[in-house]
Amino acid sequence: MPNTKSKCRHCGAELHHTLVDLGSSPLCNSLLDDATLQKGEAFYPLHVRVCGGCFLAQLDEFVSPADIFSEYSYFSSFSESFVAHARRYAEMAISRFGLTGTSKVVEVASNDGYLLQHFAARSIPVLGIEPALNVAEEARRKGVPTISHFLGAATGMSIRNEHGPADLVAANNVLAHTPHLNEFVTGLRHLLRETGVVTVEFPHLVRLIEDNLFDTIYHEHFSYFSFYAVERVFATNGLRIFDVETVDTHGGSLRIYAECASTARHAEDPRVQEMRRAEQAFGIDKLDTYSRYTQQVEKTKRDLLETLIRLRNAGKRIVGYGVPGKGNTLLNYCGIRSDFLEYMVDRNPYKQGKFTPGTRIPIYPPERIHETRPDFILVMPWNIKAEVMEQLAAVRGWGAKFIVPLPAVKILD
Ligand SMILES: [Zn+2]
Repeated sequence: MPNTKSKCRHCGAELHHTLVDLGSSPLCNSLLDDATLQKGEAFYPLHVRVCGGCFLAQLDEFVSPADIFSEYSYFSSFSESFVAHARRYAEMAISRFGLTGTSKVVEVASNDGYLLQHFAARSIPVLGIEPALNVAEEARRKGVPTISHFLGAATGMSIRNEHGPADLVAANNVLAHTPHLNEFVTGLRHLLRETGVVTVEFPHLVRLIEDNLFDTIYHEHFSYFSFYAVERVFATNGLRIFDVETVDTHGGSLRIYAECASTARHAEDPRVQEMRRAEQAFGIDKLDTYSRYTQQVEKTKRDLLETLIRLRNAGKRIVGYGVPGKGNTLLNYCGIRSDFLEYMVDRNPYKQGKFTPGTRIPIYPPERIHETRPDFILVMPWNIKAEVMEQLAAVRGWGAKFIVPLPAVKILD
């Protein structure tokens, strides 16, 4: 039965159509410890709906960003590939938009300054906006001026008044985490000088559907964007998209370039029309395109469980490698607990000694794999499976194999 109470966070229409319903699960980063293991856990629905009006795919908001992002344990600079991606972006933006020592670059959700540091190194004035106080502090320590705010229409205006308008505003991997979407996009516009450019990167909904990335659905990701939906959200809030490109972060993302609709200085790049055409061919504005997804996700669950059941019935021992946020969506949706996975390992010391939310599997340091010599290793961050299999090359010494759960279940030597 449709929940007629949910409304689209962009256009306000009632949401009646399901993309996929993954049941309910705890917040993916609420790991348990010995004390909380003795208590109950809060489970929230994980039901993605798509708006029949603007085709924005979305989850209801059960948890406020202030609860998730005010103190944050993720530092972007920990990931070398992320910092390299940021450096290439900075070089491109400086040359394409002719940024100089009199320009200003602002990043929203600037994390620890992983991106702005590349502009600062070229003597271009920067300002980071990062709500997580501990992460903002780290950015300032690196010499990246950073203020701690959540962006909205009013904060966008007051930051512009206090710090001056921006020639370039970057907002990467934050749009999905923004429950008040229209407010946020208006805030982006307020930060901009009339001639300025805003670039935004977000995971592409077409990749989520085509490549079966349903484990990237979790409560902290409020919205799942197509170019179609983003173009509408931006237009409603006074921004015009004049270019788009694909980037390979998070299983396939889009980077859009926008400017104030009132100025419209840039010619539309042919890539914009190509993207519109590709999404039309995909069926981006047809509800059937979305309603089919459920069958695909359910089939993946059955295939994975079939594999795990077969191996366990044959007496094989299986453990899990890696506890990324998305791993918990997969474990909870499929009902994989210590009956299938003896334990999990993770390199992050913060996670070791804890237990996965909902499924309560103990988490150990990776060395444990070499001590207990399991027969199979389920690779949770399957998008970096090559890297993981390289790190664990020694397990082949006792004949262990890898199980990659997505996009389709595979056993690899
Ligand atoms: Zn809508």
